[in-house]
Amino acid sequence: MNPPAEVDVLVVGFGAAGAAAAIAAHDAGASVCVVEKTSAGGGNCVHSGGFLFDIDGPRAIDHLDALCFGKTDRAVLEAYARGLADIPAFVQTLGGSAPPVDIDAFGGMLPSWPHFPGAGNVRYRQFVPAAGERPGPGLWRVLEGAVRARNVPVALSTPVVDLLTSDDGVVGAVVESDRVRRAITARTGVILCSGSFEADAELRDAYLPLPLTSVGHQGNTGDTLRLAQAAGASLWHMSAFFGWLSFVHPDYPAAFTLDVHAPSFIYVDGDGRRFADETGWEVHDRVRSVTGYLPRRPNRPNMPGWIIFDEAARQAGPLHGIVGSPNDYEWSLDNSTEVAAGWIKRGDDSADLAAATGLDPAILKDTLAGYAAAVSRRADYEFGRTPATLVPLLPPLYAIQMTPGVATASGGPRRDADARVLRPGGGAGGDPIPGLFAAGAAGSIWGHLTEHGGGLTDAIVFGRIAGERAASRAGRLVTNATT
Ligand SMILES: Cc1cc2nc3c(=O)[nH]c(=O)nc-3n(C[C@H](O)[C@H](O)[C@H](O)COP(=O)(O)OP(=O)(O)OC[C@H]3O[C@@H](n4cnc5c(N)ncnc54)[C@H](O)[C@@H]3O)c2cc1C
Repeated sequence: MNPPAEVDVLVVGFGAAGAAAAIAAHDAGASVCVVEKTSAGGGNCVHSGGFLFDIDGPRAIDHLDALCFGKTDRAVLEAYARGLADIPAFVQTLGGSAPPVDIDAFGGMLPSWPHFPGAGNVRYRQFVPAAGERPGPGLWRVLEGAVRARNVPVALSTPVVDLLTSDDGVVGAVVESDRVRRAITARTGVILCSGSFEADAELRDAYLPLPLTSVGHQGNTGDTLRLAQAAGASLWHMSAFFGWLSFVHPDYPAAFTLDVHAPSFIYVDGDGRRFADETGWEVHDRVRSVTGYLPRRPNRPNMPGWIIFDEAARQAGPLHGIVGSPNDYEWSLDNSTEVAAGWIKRGDDSADLAAATGLDPAILKDTLAGYAAAVSRRADYEFGRTPATLVPLLPPLYAIQMTPGVATASGGPRRDADARVLRPGGGAGGDPIPGLFAAGAAGSIWGHLTEHGGGLTDAIVFGRIAGERAASRAGRLVTNATT
C-alpha cells in the first residue's frame, strides 16, 4: 500500500516499539501510519526469547543506573520503571499473557545481575506462545494483530530516507517505495522506532569494540542515526550492545546464536587455548569475554574460536534456538543434523578433533589436559571457573566454530523521559527537537549492560510513551510536552 500523504503521527519502523507507538497514538485519538523498510514487520521481536524484565521497590532506579554505568538520565529510568509496571496489563488487553517465570528453573542464569543494587526486586516475565510457536514470534503476533485491528495503515518495503524539517521542528518524512519518493506530513510527530545499526558492518566497526557479526534482524543498518543526526539530534550509548557467541554459515544472512545446555564444555580461541571462565558471564554479556587483550599471549583472543563439548552437552539441547532462528532454520534438538552436516565437528579424541577443526593438535591436547587437571583438583587457577561447573569432557568430543555476535546495539538518538529526541547540549542533552520522538532500540536506554528482557520492555514502554505524547499537539509544542 502507499502511505497517506498526511497523518497526525508517522511511526518509522514496525517492530515492537513501532507497534506499541502506533497502538498508543491511535488510542489517544490520532491518525497514524507506520512505514517499515523491510518486507515484513517484527524486527528483532521475532528473533527474541519473548522475555520481559520487571523491577520495583525503592532501589529500582539504582539498579538501572548501575547497569547503565550512570549514562542514562535518572528521569528516563524513572519513566521506564513506571512503564514496566503497566506491561502485563497492556499485553493482556492485546489478548496475550506474560506471567513471571520461575527464576530457579533457569539454572543460575537468572537473575542477570544478582549483585547489583535492588536485584532482589527483579522479576522476569515471558510471553506465553500458542502451541508450536516461540515466545518472541508469539508476542509479535499479538502486537501486530492489535495494530491491524485498529486499521492503522502499515506500508511495508517503504523506508524513510529523509526527515522533513521546518522552523517548527520535524514535520514529516520522505519515504521511498518502488523507487518512487513521497513526502508524508506528520502534523504532530514522527516517531523513530527504526532500530539501531547492528546490521551495518561499517557502523559496527566504527562504534563497537570488536569485530562482530549480526545475529538478528538485518534491517537495522543505522538509518536511525543518519535521520536523527540530520535533524540535529544528540547521540548516546554508541558503544553499548549485547550479543551472543554465534555460528556463521555462508548460506544464511544472520549468524546463529549459540548456547550450551550442560556444563561439559569449554571455549578455545583460534589458537586452541582457553581464554575465559566460560560459565561466569551473564548470558547477554558473554560475548565480551573475547574483547579482552591478554597481555601474556602473543595474540588477543584469536577469533573465530571453537566451543568444545562432549556427548552429554550434545544431547542436552539444541545449541541454537532458544533465541534467534533468524534464518527459518530448525536446529535439531540433539544437534545430530548439524553434526551430520559438518557444521559441528566430531572427534574420538583430542588428536581426531584437532584434525577435524584444523586446530594445532599439541596446543589442543595441552588445553584439554589443563582443563582436566582443573576438574580433578576442583579449582580453575587460570580463569576462576566455579567448582560446580568443572565437569569432565568425556569423548567423543565435538566442536563448533564460534565468533562474537551482536544482537542489538544501543546507539542512537538521546531521548528524554517523554521519548522526545534531544539536541546536543551539556552532559544530559539539550532541548527537545519539536515533533521528533524515539523509542526502543533506536537509541536504547541501556548505557552499558542490559537486563534479560530489557530490549522488548524498552521498546514497549517508550513506544507507548512516544505514541501518547506525539498524538497530542504536545509533539509540536515543546513546553507542554510533559503535561
Ligand atoms: C536473538 C535475539 C534475542 C533477543 N531476546 C530478547 C528477549 O528475550 N527479551 C528482550 O527484551 N529483548 C530481546 N532481544 C532484543 C529485542 O528483540 C529488541 O531490543 C527489540 O525487539 C527492539 O525492538 P524495536 O522495535 O525497538 O526495534 P527493531 O525490532 O530493531 O525494529 C526496528 C524496525 O525498523 C525498521 N527500519 C529500519 N530502518 C528503517 C527506515 N529507514 N524506515 C522504516 N523502517 C526502518 C527495521 O527494518 C525494523 O523492522 C533479543 C534480540 C535478539 C537479536
